[in-house]
Amino acid sequence: MTSLSIQNLSKTFPGNVHALKDFSLEIGEGELVAIVGPSGCGKSTLLRILAGLEEENTGTVRLGSRVLNGIPPKDRDIAVVFQSYTLMPHLSVADNLGFGLKLRGEKKSMREAKILEAAKLLNIEGLLQRYPSEISGGERQRVALGRAILREPKVFLFDEPLSSLDAQMRLQLRVEIQRLHQRLKVPMIFVTHDQSEALTLGDRVVVLNQGSIQQIATPEELYLRPANTFTASFIGSPGMNLFHGSLQTSAAGTHFASSALNFLLSAEQAEKLRDHAEIIAGIRPEHLHSVESGGKLSGKVTAVEKQAGQTGIYLQNDATSFSVKTITEPVTKVDETLKFDFSPREIVFFNTKGGFLLPIHNVGDK
Ligand code: ATP
Repeated sequence: MTSLSIQNLSKTFPGNVHALKDFSLEIGEGELVAIVGPSGCGKSTLLRILAGLEEENTGTVRLGSRVLNGIPPKDRDIAVVFQSYTLMPHLSVADNLGFGLKLRGEKKSMREAKILEAAKLLNIEGLLQRYPSEISGGERQRVALGRAILREPKVFLFDEPLSSLDAQMRLQLRVEIQRLHQRLKVPMIFVTHDQSEALTLGDRVVVLNQGSIQQIATPEELYLRPANTFTASFIGSPGMNLFHGSLQTSAAGTHFASSALNFLLSAEQAEKLRDHAEIIAGIRPEHLHSVESGGKLSGKVTAVEKQAGQTGIYLQNDATSFSVKTITEPVTKVDETLKFDFSPREIVFFNTKGGFLLPIHNVGDK
């Protein structure tokens, strides 16, 4: 088994488009790394370079000790599963699955045994005699996965393979990919713009924006300690609320003060933040709880969005807009003014130069 090492990869397209900037990542044997970011952040460019379909400007890709730069796609031992299924319409599911094995000259009996094994793994053994036009989108994507497995690649790359499927099928295939991941023990990269997919599938998640890595971390770490304000607002649905303010001292102690929000810092927070006159405070929507009176933050409800088992409430005050997430049934409606409180321990802080997380004893710490 072999790990995948990507070092200092950069790619610029004509028109001075920096699709990938100094991208480095090590993926261990049997590790699944999810790459998530907004449209145009460079996800597909990265996969295309790894697969050998696009040439990098600088950087090195190694599979174990073997340098892959310059090696044609078919000789890389890398399988790619794309968003749209690339099945051959005139071949049955079994023949689509076995196509690569046939090209490699495998004997019919061996081919049939391997096809059946892959089909069982993906729950498509009942479809082997059908043609691509006779199966559903989810089933076609399973066949594409099966074909990739049968190549016995040393690396799997997934380029948004679930995005054209309906929600239920997406969930089912997610589980299949997790099972494959546990079974195959090869490095896997899963690219998606869907953060919930990235957070559920990835052992680690890379957040990418405008070609640059914003953070590489476990899903929990990303959520609790986002490295910067981009990750903070990108991860989470809705993302973290961010308030720009300053530190002010009164007889009671050091306050975070902004036109929307004013609260007293703990002694530890005040000590760690004392060199920062200007600062950004971040709080997750689910850490704001509604109170009858008092509260540190208030706003007028602009929208209420019910999701399964939880509700997002969007609010606006004179200074800013923010959001709240609750699992209790909301007894609120648009235009109502609500007050909120939170525990200062659930606040994270970022500097204003670059928006980087300031390390303080924080959310999720024991
Ligand atoms: P999406 O999620 O929308 O598919 P992505 O994260 O996969 O986006 P890429 O397709 O990697 O993004 O594109 C990264 C940037 O490079 C974008 O700004 C895109 O417009 C640009 N780009 C990609 N391919 C080319 C090309 N062949 N020529 C010029 N620019 C390109």
